Amino acid sequence: MKLLDGRTAIITGAASARGLGKATALLFALHGARVAILDLDATAVQTAADDLPGPGHMALPCDVTDKTACETAVSDILGQFGQVHILVNNAGITQPLKLMDISPMHYDAVLDVNLRGTLYMSQTLIPHLRAGERGSIVNMSSVSAQRGGGIFGGPHYAAAKAGILGLTKAMARELAPDGVRVNAICPGFIDTDITAGKLTDEMRAQVIADIPMGRAGTAPDVAGYCLFLASDLSAYVTGSEIDVNGGSLI
Ligand code: NAD
Repeated sequence: MKLLDGRTAIITGAASARGLGKATALLFALHGARVAILDLDATAVQTAADDLPGPGHMALPCDVTDKTACETAVSDILGQFGQVHILVNNAGITQPLKLMDISPMHYDAVLDVNLRGTLYMSQTLIPHLRAGERGSIVNMSSVSAQRGGGIFGGPHYAAAKAGILGLTKAMARELAPDGVRVNAICPGFIDTDITAGKLTDEMRAQVIADIPMGRAGTAPDVAGYCLFLASDLSAYVTGSEIDVNGGSLI
C-alpha cells in the first residue's frame, strides 16, 4: 500500500522542470496519487504531466491570480477525477528589489501570485474538500517570511510569504472541524529556476556558508515534506509551519 493510493492532488506552479512543484508531483505520483499539474503555459504543463509515472494525471494551464481560471480548472479536474483530496499552493514569483524600489505594479504582481493565488485556489476547492474526507492543503511560504526577505525576494515577497503563514493558520482553524488540515512549508535556499543564475559564485558561497548543513536544498528535500503533510502520516498536524532549510534559522 502506497502513502497516497486512491488520492488525488492539485499542485499549482508545477510545470517548472527543476521546481518544487514538479518534484512534489513526481513524488506524489510515485506514492500512488493521481495529480493535476497547473501552471501558466499549456505546453509546459502537458510536458510535466507526461513525465509523471502511472496513468490518469492531468495538465491544465491556469493563472492562479484569476479566480475564474481557478474555478474552471477545478471544475475540469473534478469532472475527470471525481474527487480531490490534496491541494498544494506552490505557484510563486520573486523580485529581488529593495524597499524603496518597489512600485505598485511590483507589489501587486508579487502579492497576487503568492498570496491572492493561494486564497483563490483554496476558496475554489474548499467546499469540495469539506464535503470529502481527510483533505489536506499545503501552502508554500518561505524562510524569507521568517528572516525578513533575503537575496532573491524583496520585502514585498517576504510580506506575501508571511501573509501565507497567517492565512494558513486562519484556514487551519476554520477548516479543522471539517477534517481539512492546512499547513505551510518554509523552504530555505533551494536550487531551482527561481534561484538559478541569480548569484555570482562568491555570493553563492556566502549563502551556503550561512547554512549550518553546508549545502543548498534540493527540490526533493521539499517534496518529501509535502508528501508527509499530504498523507495520513501527518493526520494530527494542522496550522503548522515547517522549516526545510538546512538549519538556516538556528
Ligand atoms: P519555480 O520558478 O521553479 O516555480 C514556480 C512556478 O510557478 C513556475 O513554474 C511558474 O511558471 C509558476 N507560476 C508563476 N506565476 C504563476 C501564476 N500566476 N499561476 C500559476 N503558476 C504560476 O520556483 P520554485 O523554486 O520551484 O518555487 C516554488 C515555490 O516555492 C514558490 O512559491 C517559491 O516562492 C517557493 N520558495 C522557493 C524557494 C527556493 O529557494 N527555490 C525558497 C522558498 C520558497
